[in-house]
Amino acid sequence: MSDAAAPPVLEVRNLVRSFGEGAAKLEVFKGANAVIRRGEIVTLVGPSGAGKSSLLHIAGLLEAPTSGEVLIEGRAAATLSDRERTAIRRTALGFVYQFHHLLPEFSAVENVMMPQRIAGVSAAAARAEAMRLLDLVGLTARASHRPAQLSGGEQQRVAIARALSNKPKLLLADEPTGNLDPRTADKVFEVLLDIVRREGLAALIATHNHKLINYTDRTLLLHEGKLVDGGKLTV
Ligand code: ADP
Ligand code: MG
Repeated sequence: MSDAAAPPVLEVRNLVRSFGEGAAKLEVFKGANAVIRRGEIVTLVGPSGAGKSSLLHIAGLLEAPTSGEVLIEGRAAATLSDRERTAIRRTALGFVYQFHHLLPEFSAVENVMMPQRIAGVSAAAARAEAMRLLDLVGLTARASHRPAQLSGGEQQRVAIARALSNKPKLLLADEPTGNLDPRTADKVFEVLLDIVRREGLAALIATHNHKLINYTDRTLLLHEGKLVDGGKLTV
């Protein structure tokens, strides 16, 4: 739920991002601002090439902006060491992409355990948490299957469970249902929203499926290098 008093999990201030130089210079962001607060689920919409993936990369601390500030839970990314940025990516942020990027040699439950194991959680505790999350995405019966033995929608549900396994505060999702047929996409999106709400996370979800904005708290519109707060929109 939107709560104007909740602390920000993500802020971007005066964000500028440009590629190239001179005549070939492309300014994707020209002073964009946005705040996402704890527990808020926000869709990010804009035409192809508008900069949705770029914003998620910057918010995910995978890329630095040309200028401007990015703050995760109030901490300015530019002031952090590489090690601190990596720690924030592992503990405060979860990522879901258009393609699942599951490890093919490992089962569903092992894939969901992986981020926790990397963070030093014991195998037993990681497995218990992974099974809890797989249950929330409706995949208890598929826990020991490898990705190739799962449908596209099931693979994406495993990827969602994996993204949540380190208890992030903010989920960043880039066209998470973009690779699925419309019916499967609707179901996966429903599962995504349900688990994000149950876990009390904030989420920023880039999509070109405008129907999805009906189900989120707020929409940010990427328009001419700025982020326009569309509030709660319905289509
Ligand atoms: P979206 O996800 O909304 O489709 P992107 O964030 O992927 O848009 O891209 C925004 C713009 O930035 C596009 O015009 C794209 O070509 C350009 N762009 C993205 N990454 C790079 C890069 N590494 N070098 C040059 N241009 C890039
Ligand atoms: Mg994109």
